[in-house]
Parts: sequence; C-alpha cells; structure tokens
Amino acid sequence: MLQRLELYEGVLSRRLVHQLENVRGAPERLLSVYWDLDPQRWGDQEAIRIAAKNAAQQLREQIRSMDSLSNGARQRLLQEVDLAYEAAYFAAGRRGLRGLACFLASHLNVTYAFPLPWPLRQQHFLEEQFVLWPLRQALEQSDPFGIILIDKDEAKLYLGYLGEVEEITYIFDEVPPRIRIPDAFGELQFRRKQIEYVHHHFAWVAQVAHRLWESEPFRYLILGGLWEILPQFETHLHRYLQELVVARWAVPVHVPKTELRARFQEEEKHTLEQQSQRLWQQLLDAPSVQQAFGPEQVFRALWQRRIWYLLVKPNTRYHGHVCPQCSRLHLSGGPCIECGASMATVPDIYEEAVREALAQSAQVRYWNNAALDEYDGIAARLRY
Ligand SMILES: [Zn+2]
Repeated sequence: MLQRLELYEGVLSRRLVHQLENVRGAPERLLSVYWDLDPQRWGDQEAIRIAAKNAAQQLREQIRSMDSLSNGARQRLLQEVDLAYEAAYFAAGRRGLRGLACFLASHLNVTYAFPLPWPLRQQHFLEEQFVLWPLRQALEQSDPFGIILIDKDEAKLYLGYLGEVEEITYIFDEVPPRIRIPDAFGELQFRRKQIEYVHHHFAWVAQVAHRLWESEPFRYLILGGLWEILPQFETHLHRYLQELVVARWAVPVHVPKTELRARFQEEEKHTLEQQSQRLWQQLLDAPSVQQAFGPEQVFRALWQRRIWYLLVKPNTRYHGHVCPQCSRLHLSGGPCIECGASMATVPDIYEEAVREALAQSAQVRYWNNAALDEYDGIAARLRY
C-alpha cells in the first residue's frame, strides 16, 4: 500500500491526461477527488484544512454506504481517501495553489495529485474511469509554453505550464576545441569550421524543438541564452515556431530550476493578462449582436449555445438558479423563463456558467480587471 501521495512536480502534459483517460477500473471503482483549496475562498490555511476534512468525511460516508462494493474495494477506497486528504492537508496554503486534483487507483499503481493555480469546485467521483472534465476545465485556463535555453554547444528544452517547468531534453554538441594555430590560413579555416559546427547545433536543436511541439503542442515559445546568439538561433527555427516566440531571456543554459520557474511564472501571468486584454478589446469591437455583458445576457447566450469566449472575474460569487429541464441559468428564482419548469438553487451561478461554457467548447478566461466590474464580473463574445 502506498504510504503517501506526493504532489506532482512536473508539467501536466497532454500525454499524461490522455494516459489517465485510458485507465480502466471495471468492475472496480476509481477515485477522482477535486479539492477546493482556494485561500481566497476559505480564508486561511486552517479554514482550508477544515473544509477539506469535511469533504473527506462526506466521501468516506458515501464509500461506506455503497452496497455494491466488495470489502477489499471498500478498504482500498477508504485508504485512498486518507491519502488524498493528507495530500490536501499538506498542500493547503502552499503559495499559488488554489486547487488539487487527485486520481487514485492504487491497485493499478496509478496515483496522482496535481496542484493547480486555478479554483476548482470541491467534488469527487467514484466511477469505472477517472472523471477528468473538471481537470480539463482547469487546464483550459492556460496554454502550455515551450522554453528553449541555448548556447553554442548546449541546449535545454523545457515545457512550462501552470507555473511549473519541466526539462524535456538536454542537448550537447561538441564544438572542436580551440587550439593554437600558428598560421593565419589555418586559423581562418578553423574559425569557419567552428561556425559550421554551431550552425549544425542550432539546426539540430530547432529540429528537436519542432518534434517536441508536434507531440506537446505548446502555444507560446520562450527563448533563453546568450543574448548575442539568440537572433542567430531564432533564424534556424521552423517559421511556425518563430511566430510563437513571446519572450527572449538573457539566461545561461544551466540556470537553476527555481530561478527558471520564477521567471516562467511571471511570463505566464503576463501572457495570460495580455491575452485577456486582447479578448476584451475584441469583444468591445465586435458587432453588438455578438456581445453579451452581465449575467442576464450571458446566461441567455449560454442557453442558445452561442458563446465563443467568456471572461469572468475570479472570485465573483452569486447564488443562482438552474433549470433542471433545459439547463437555463437564472439569477433570480421563479419558473424557468424558457420552459416554465421550477428551478434548482446553486451556490455559485458563475461557476455553473463557466462549466456550461466549457461543455460547449467555449474558451474561458478568468480575468481580474476593473473593466468587468460594470457588468457584474461577467461578459462574453458570441459566435454569431
Ligand atoms: Zn427551463
């Protein structure tokens, strides 16, 4: 039995989510737990832990009351709840962390705890497969980055995502050593040879980067290295990758990981902010039929399945109502405006809106900007 569930340190890659998707538990149940560890919601570390404790207790009771489970399966699931709770307990209050997604099938040796910088709704699932849509919902909030650190004979390729960086490849191409050459002609030849080597090295790194992009399609690219050689290297990149470059850093290839991570977190934040700003401007410039400002307009557009992208101010919470028949969201109660059915209350109507938008393949961005205040923290661009 696993003793402890460690927080995942690497980048939550597409490949990894795909692997989880393919884990089959039948006839046994697999545990997926999403912890809401958002300090902005709960307050302090102690309050986060109490909330997690209550959620774990609920989950245990549910497992105990499930008649269909064998004793062995029940024991395993209860132990897994303990592990997941312990992971949440220790993760609570960690800098930048707002949610934790745990997937446990300890009998299949699959156990993961992914710390996330985005808010998650507290929920759990006991199904024959892992339930991944809330994770995908969280991953939708950002785009992966590729990072290439390059020197004349070395390179490191990283993936960066959700505040984490992970080294994927290290490349070392030996350049001929510098030796004393007596005559001028020999010296010239040697120089030419050296330039040729560097050129080969750059071309090779560019090719490896392209292959990485094919398997983990990052949306943005950061280049780092000796300032003088970066422009030269950049010309070797595939034209498509050149267009993804959002930043150039003067850093050595062997920059410590903590420093790299800190730099990356700044860059990611900055890029997301710019992206939201751009989406907001596009929304303002759009024809008025494609604009939805404020909850009433956005909820109507959601019901019509017309949302292209949604901008939501984080931590805006309103009680609201959902129609169980046609899924229409409402701020106020009473019968459903579309179908007349009586509605169910939900504690956080914006979170419902986000979930519904993602289910419709709309893009969702949490954006903390005063521009949204005028519209109660929610606005959307419509498809038509
Ligand atoms: Zn309805």
